[in-house]
Amino acid sequence: MIVFDEVAREGHEQILFGYDKVSGLRTIIAIHSTALGPALGGTRFFPYHSEEEALADVLRLSKGMSYKAAAAGLDLGGGKAVIIGDPRTDKSERLFRAYGRIVDSLQGRYITAEDVGTTTADMDMVRRETRWAFGNSVVMGGSGDPSPVTARGLYAAARAVAQKLWGSSDLAGRTFLVQGVGKVGTAFAQLLVEARAKVMVTDAFPAAIKSAVGKLGVIPIEPEKAHSIECDIFSPCALGAVLNEVTIPELNCAAVVGSANNQLATDKDAQRLADRGILYAPDFVVNAGGLINVYDELHGYSKTRALFLVDSIYDATMTILDTAEREGINPNEAAKHVAEARIQEIGDLRRLRRSGDDRN
Ligand code: NAD
Repeated sequence: MIVFDEVAREGHEQILFGYDKVSGLRTIIAIHSTALGPALGGTRFFPYHSEEEALADVLRLSKGMSYKAAAAGLDLGGGKAVIIGDPRTDKSERLFRAYGRIVDSLQGRYITAEDVGTTTADMDMVRRETRWAFGNSVVMGGSGDPSPVTARGLYAAARAVAQKLWGSSDLAGRTFLVQGVGKVGTAFAQLLVEARAKVMVTDAFPAAIKSAVGKLGVIPIEPEKAHSIECDIFSPCALGAVLNEVTIPELNCAAVVGSANNQLATDKDAQRLADRGILYAPDFVVNAGGLINVYDELHGYSKTRALFLVDSIYDATMTILDTAEREGINPNEAAKHVAEARIQEIGDLRRLRRSGDDRN
């Protein structure tokens, strides 16, 4: 019964547990909301220590996807899946195809894509058993690696923040610290360099810093206490929970705009940032580029259309910052309000239409 209590707490619609004896597949799919459309969210392949930990993660992540899709103005609900296992050793064709059949049984209420621990090639295997797997490779007609598109969304958000703070969206001459120069961080740093911003980078791996410095001519920063370096915009593109009661007092920036998921250790940290006069652009608003890119695959992928939609993250960010200012709340709260209001309003409309369909 503990499972049902957990599920009820955040108002999830459905949880599906899947198992395949031959491949050892153990998966949990969580559908948080289909109020705005099918629940889309990636498949995380991770060596969870326990089933409880996997369940807690999938419940938390699927709810986050409802907010992300709603704030981005997409006709999508929120869902997520986890596969319990080590992505380095436990992957097989059988496992992904078995997983694909489980996804297929939901008949499109849940749509999957790649996430931490899964790749476009994995999604190609899932796709062989279900049409509800996206984030496929380019050769299979998919949208490929979402990271450059996520970086483009971040860039749009950074321009909105600059407009709000300094009255101009031009990033030339602004200083950035990009924490984590992996796929998104490197692509973002490149866009900033092209915009003639001053870019500093840090990473837990010296090789990643060296590669970014060699490729882009950016300034290297040691990872220890990097968050306290003086800059205009701090951009966490590595891990979650980097904005917490220890780091926030040490920040030396005017704003935070980064791709990492769940940057705030707790919701209280959004207020801590606001109290310090640091403008926080909520992660789930500014990092929606990858989701928007995959969403476009549902309509037959058009890169032009996807990028056009991703650029609207500028407007989405501005709406959140304006709402926060108008209502005297922090941007994280404002983003949640905007997302919840849309889920309520448009969700109602869709429910009305569905009951109308039933009568006809
Ligand atoms: P990645 O694994 O390619 O890059 C992450 C980088 O962060 C690596 O270079 C890693 O060495 C570095 N790193 C790890 N721990 C660190 C630490 N303590 N300090 C400094 N650097 C550290 O991942 P990515 O695809 O670039 O994604 C980055 C973040 O953005 C993740 O949190 C991810 O969930 C989020 N995100 C990514 C996408 C996408 O399209 N890839 C979309 C939305 C959100």
